[in-house]
Amino acid sequence: MITFQNVNKHYGQFHVLKDINLHIKQGEVVVIIGPSGSGKSTLLRCMNYLESITSGELIVDNVKLNDNKTDINALRRNIGMVFQHFNLYPHRTVLDNITLAPMKALGVSKAEAVQTAMFYLNKVGISEKAHAFPSELSGGQQQRVAIARGLAMKPKLMLFDEPTSALDPEMIGEVLDVMKALTHEGMTMVVVTHEMGFAREVADRILFMDEGRIIEEATPAAFFANPREERARQFLSRVL
Ligand code: ADP
Ligand code: MG
Repeated sequence: MITFQNVNKHYGQFHVLKDINLHIKQGEVVVIIGPSGSGKSTLLRCMNYLESITSGELIVDNVKLNDNKTDINALRRNIGMVFQHFNLYPHRTVLDNITLAPMKALGVSKAEAVQTAMFYLNKVGISEKAHAFPSELSGGQQQRVAIARGLAMKPKLMLFDEPTSALDPEMIGEVLDVMKALTHEGMTMVVVTHEMGFAREVADRILFMDEGRIIEEATPAAFFANPREERARQFLSRVL
């Protein structure tokens, strides 16, 4: 599903991603952890071309991203992204927030878009909020709407960038539960998170990033029991 081959990225003079080599298979759940500023968001944003790479090769869903013939919009239709701040349209209802993109980008009829939206709202447990506005929802509910919005595009891949970091503690669980359910359905997921319990429970693989490099890659069992890298050990001792 995703291949990074010797990928580097610079922001001006700043070398933010260094020699990234990574393969993610269809159906895999990969959790990326690491200190703030280590390049986690940038890595994720490269995967749907919100950021371009400077060198190397990046292939997502059989599409080469560093090729100017690539139809980026077609690629993005297959990738859902959920951000820390839910990025819902504030002046649109929950239902509109979910139906707009399928109607506009996929050419789905309104009736079908509404049906699909209601299906996913049910799935994330808030179908009763379909006609509410985002401001009328809690943070956890807004994030669940954002996940439903991503799923309504029927993506092949879901990217999550610290989806629970902006939430009050009592709302984190409800969002993680929705994400856990998704992993059981075989969705390919790449998740940046500081929720170590979640990582341990659902990840097929943990990537630990530091200063723009993936310095450790392991199963959760191996990583949490005995991280090889000193920097990973220090990080875990701070967050666990
Ligand atoms: P993380 O998500 O791990 O906190 P980021 O990928 O957001 O890390 O950022 C990695 C580094 O790149 C940080 O030092 C950050 O300041 C820098 N950075 C991020 N976005 C930009 C940008 N658009 N322009 C310049 N520097 C950036
Ligand atoms: Mg980040």
